[in-house]
Amino acid sequence: MCAVSLGNKHRPVTSWHYSGGMRPEKIASCADHIRSLVKEIQEDLQHQNEGEQVVELDTSIGRLSRMDAMQQQQMALELRRRKENQLMRLENALKRVAQGSYGRCGKCKEEISEDRLEIQPDAVLCVRCASQ
Ligand SMILES: [Zn+2]
Repeated sequence: MCAVSLGNKHRPVTSWHYSGGMRPEKIASCADHIRSLVKEIQEDLQHQNEGEQVVELDTSIGRLSRMDAMQQQQMALELRRRKENQLMRLENALKRVAQGSYGRCGKCKEEISEDRLEIQPDAVLCVRCASQ
């Protein structure tokens, strides 16, 4: 009597049990990638700090008008915010590596595809959940 419903019941949520999770060497290479990105951004932010100080100390802005200078400062601030945000996401990803939950969607618990993690190693959601 239950034979029909058994075939119809599709539960993708449990499908990750089959794969047994991401391969450890894949996670390790993702973690390496993340660490090098973290280092890159930290250096960028440091350089930007130095750059901003130079602008502040330099009283002759040159050909740049005041408006341009302000606009540039806004852009620099926006860029910094974005980098700091990315840094935070990458550090969170490293925490997930340590906890063993890296590579799994935070919403549906499905595995995030390796292709996606290569492009966006700090991805928290799988493609499907991210596009919802
Ligand atoms: Zn998902």
